[in-house]
Amino acid sequence: MKGARYFPPASVRAIDRYLATLEHEELYVRRGRRSGLFCVVAVHSTVRGPSLGGCRMWAYDDARAGVRDALRLSRAMTFKSAVAGLPLGGGKGVVMLPPDGPLDDARRRDALLDFGDAVAQLDGRYVTAEDVGTSAEAMEVIAQVTSHVSGLAVQRGGSGDPSPFTALGVLAGVEATLEQAHGSADVAGRRIAVVGLGHVGLRLAELLAERGAQLVVADIREERRTDAERLGATWMAPEDALTAEVDLLAPCALGGVLDHELVPRLRTRAIAGAANNQLADESIADLLHARGVLWAPDFVVNAGGITNIAVELRPEGYDAGVAVVEVGRIGETLRTVFASAAGGDVTPLTAAMELARRRLVVGP
Ligand code: NAD
Repeated sequence: MKGARYFPPASVRAIDRYLATLEHEELYVRRGRRSGLFCVVAVHSTVRGPSLGGCRMWAYDDARAGVRDALRLSRAMTFKSAVAGLPLGGGKGVVMLPPDGPLDDARRRDALLDFGDAVAQLDGRYVTAEDVGTSAEAMEVIAQVTSHVSGLAVQRGGSGDPSPFTALGVLAGVEATLEQAHGSADVAGRRIAVVGLGHVGLRLAELLAERGAQLVVADIREERRTDAERLGATWMAPEDALTAEVDLLAPCALGGVLDHELVPRLRTRAIAGAANNQLADESIADLLHARGVLWAPDFVVNAGGITNIAVELRPEGYDAGVAVVEVGRIGETLRTVFASAAGGDVTPLTAAMELARRRLVVGP
């Protein structure tokens, strides 16, 4: 850790709906010499350690939108890692794709190498990872020009697919949320709705089924219905699952799911899931609180993947057993958040942000 101080503005209340502030340490933009595409790296904070965040390959309407994405997403990463207590800061990479369709294989490879050059220039102050539009295969290409890459295959000493670890972290979050809302962390016999049976949601549903939960599951992809049968779960349309009468709802699909239209129709007292940016806007945290619904902040609950990467970045190297233990701490973090929210009569969102801020002040 550096002996620096970081003072986020008092107005910051959510990590997912902020403007692209200008409080970052570095913003690096360069046109790739191979692909001709803009590569952007935003380093928001290195107060807790090297800034970490995924590389997003996306076709933006204009260059400002790409830069803005890097600025705001890097800031989100600072808070996510801080609240999890990880020795990492917040960063984000963007490769701006051309508007005229996907890249062919050769140009995609060139773009990734160009992005790798940009990462190398930052000399370890930014470490890249997978994000929308990139994958483990993309990380392999980037690794040809810089060592500041995470998420490589386990055979290459990397931490591999983060999703199973994200799911384990969500399980720890579900248990802590059940305990706070219903008095017991035991999932056996609890009615739980998992909405979104993708990489994380399906694994979470399996973990919950193994522990005796009564599952309601949903996905927009009909083919996931066979998984419901395998797990002994009740299959529902997503809209019905979101408003089912359950002990806990686990949103594991896309963001923005909790809005002014859905919240009044909820028939659950607890929400904890993997999806990023679950709140349509931050006033929803107050609405949930007012209606007596306990919402576990998404950026606390879904930190299992980044926690796994933090284990990969240790000097002693990756160890899956250590990762499992570290990811389990998400439950403790959430209990701390719930306790300070209850003590101060604030929402869990406010309490989580306050915890992150405290962890970002380093020094004398
Ligand atoms: P995924 O793409 O593998 O799965 C998403 C699933 O949701 C898909 O099966 C999709 O069909 C389904 N879906 C989409 N729209 C839906 C809707 N309206 N109703 C119901 N289902 C719908 O993604 P994932 O990796 O499992 O991630 C899920 C969420 O968790 C995302 O919000 C992601 O940002 C977040 N997250 C994932 C990780 C990780 O390690 N993969 C880490 C942190 C956060």
